Amino acid sequence: MLIDAHVHLDKYGGLLDQALQQIETQRIFTVATAMDVPSYLELQRIAERSNLVLPTFGIHPRRAAEYVDRLSEIGRYIETSPAIGEIGLDFHWVKDSATYPAQRKILEYFIAAAREQKKFVNLHTKAGEKEILDLLEHYDIQRAIIHWYSGPMDILRAMIDYGCYFTIGVELLYSDYIKEIAKIVPDHLLLTETDNPGALRWLKKNDEIGMPTAIKAVVDALADLRKVSRGEIESLVEANFASLITNDPWLRHVHGSLFTSAS
Ligand SMILES: [Zn+2]
Repeated sequence: MLIDAHVHLDKYGGLLDQALQQIETQRIFTVATAMDVPSYLELQRIAERSNLVLPTFGIHPRRAAEYVDRLSEIGRYIETSPAIGEIGLDFHWVKDSATYPAQRKILEYFIAAAREQKKFVNLHTKAGEKEILDLLEHYDIQRAIIHWYSGPMDILRAMIDYGCYFTIGVELLYSDYIKEIAKIVPDHLLLTETDNPGALRWLKKNDEIGMPTAIKAVVDALADLRKVSRGEIESLVEANFASLITNDPWLRHVHGSLFTSAS
C-alpha cells in the first residue's frame, strides 16, 4: 500500500470526490493533517468516507497567533484526535516575528499533550529545526514525523540519530538539496508525502492541483535515487508506517486492519 503521510485533504474543494476516489482505487493510506479547528472538523467529516484517511488535529504555525489564547479549546480537540499534526515552527515563511512567541507556546502545548496521550506528531520545522529537536528530546517524544525537511544537514543527522521519521515529498522531483536529504535518510526512517493539494502549485508557480496519485512520482523518484525498485520503496515505506503505529493505543485498529502483513 502507498503511504501519503502529510496531506491537506480539506483543501480540495470541488475535486474532493475525485481525490477520495483515487485514494480508494490506488490504495493510498492518507494522513490528513489539519491547519486549525475548522480544518480538523472538515477532515473528520471527510474521513467518514474512507477508512484509508486518518484525520489528525494540529494548529499550523501560520495559525498559532489566532489560537494562542484558546488552549483549553485546543486541548479538547487534541483529546479527540488519534495523532497530532500539522504543528511546528516557521521562522522562514512567516515573516511576522511578533507571532513567534505564539508559535512556540502552541507547539509546546501540543508536544506536551502528545507525550501525555502517547500520540505521534507530524511536524513543520522551517527554520525552527534545532528548536524542535530540543523540544522532542525534552519531552521524550519517540514518534515524530518531520514533514518536508529542508533544513541544515547537521540537524538532519541529529534528528536521524534521535529516530525521527522523514516524509520525502514532491520537491524531490525539483531540488538537488532535497535529493541529498532523501539519500541520507536511512531506510528504517523513510516515509512519503505529497503535501497535496497545494505543494505542486507552490513549487511550479502554476495552478496545478496535486492529486493523490502524485505520491507515485515521489516513490518512483526515491526508487531511482536509492537504486532500488519502486515496489521495494513502496514496501519499505509501508513497513515503516506500520511500525510507527504498531503499539499505538489510538491506532491499533488501523494497524490491525490495514497493515497486518507489513513489518
Ligand atoms: Zn502541510
